Amino acid sequence: MNFQKILKENISFFINYFKNSELILCQNITTREVLMQNIRIAIQKSGRLSEDSIDLFKECGIKLDMGKGRLKSVSSNFNAEFLFLRDDDIPGYVEDGVADLGIVGENVLVESAKNVDLVKKLGFSKCRLSIAIPREDSFDGAQSLQNKSIATSYPKLLSKYLKENDIKANIHEISGSVEIAPSIGLADAVCDIVSSGSTLLSNGLKEVQEIFKSEAVLIGNKNLSAENKSILEKILFRINAVQKAQDHKYILLNAPNEKLPEIINIIAGMKSPTVMPLAAEGWSSIHSVLEEKAFWEKIEALRNAGAEGILVIPIEKMIL
Ligand code: ATP
Ligand code: ZN
Repeated sequence: MNFQKILKENISFFINYFKNSELILCQNITTREVLMQNIRIAIQKSGRLSEDSIDLFKECGIKLDMGKGRLKSVSSNFNAEFLFLRDDDIPGYVEDGVADLGIVGENVLVESAKNVDLVKKLGFSKCRLSIAIPREDSFDGAQSLQNKSIATSYPKLLSKYLKENDIKANIHEISGSVEIAPSIGLADAVCDIVSSGSTLLSNGLKEVQEIFKSEAVLIGNKNLSAENKSILEKILFRINAVQKAQDHKYILLNAPNEKLPEIINIIAGMKSPTVMPLAAEGWSSIHSVLEEKAFWEKIEALRNAGAEGILVIPIEKMIL
């Protein structure tokens, strides 16, 4: 019997005891904090994932206080406890069950080779793992790496790429400042995380081959308790609402009534657009929701169809 179970049983006993004694006051013991466990979520303490991870939970209405130097924080309005850790340690902690969930880059997840669930791609911290070589060198595909030495912090991902391309190369594993390896004679090439490419450029390197695309992902322990599964479902419901809203815009426009069928055809909306008469005779106001990815094409089509006074408004949450 685990500690949590013993705790719950004892608390239930006391609640029943006091209920029988008509000490109704003690029903307050059945609060969220005591009877429901907190799901433990590991996020990066400080680095490129931290701010967006914290913002994600804030947008989901989950309060977390990340005071200076804190390693742990319990949410004041949700059954969650946050652990602030180095990103490299997060997959291992989630596998061991020290944390139930975690947010890491997919690059770190795959490199760690830990046995955890990839629960959801989160769409931020997008980057790529690429091979880069000195600017003056030439590159004619993977063959150019044959028998070369490559510095990287991602030996597993790099070996996989080399193996798939039947290339033999020396992998120099280093934990940071990989880009300087060619200039100090440590390696012929590097395999590192790139987003804009400016760091490579300032170290005299050029990106020649992308080997892995990454973004932040929510990971989960393989054996979550039923209680934690239901907390995770609540979190996912909120994340989906936030992500849906980020992918959509609310649109309002005016149009002459004779143009309505054509305009409604362009902006079908979630069910169908709202159409309301304007004070001006023969005109209507149309409200709808547009997907971000087709946004500009639709705006152009609407203008061509006679829409005027187009207003576009961000949506905060979207529950479908
Ligand atoms: P820690 O101190 O926690 O070990 P770190 O220095 O290893 O941090 P960061 O540089 O903060 O890691 O990067 C964390 C993750 O953010 C990376 O694993 C990657 O998924 C993503 N990332 C890295 N560089 C970029 C970038 N330039 N743009 C966007 N995302 C990036
Ligand atoms: Zn790290």
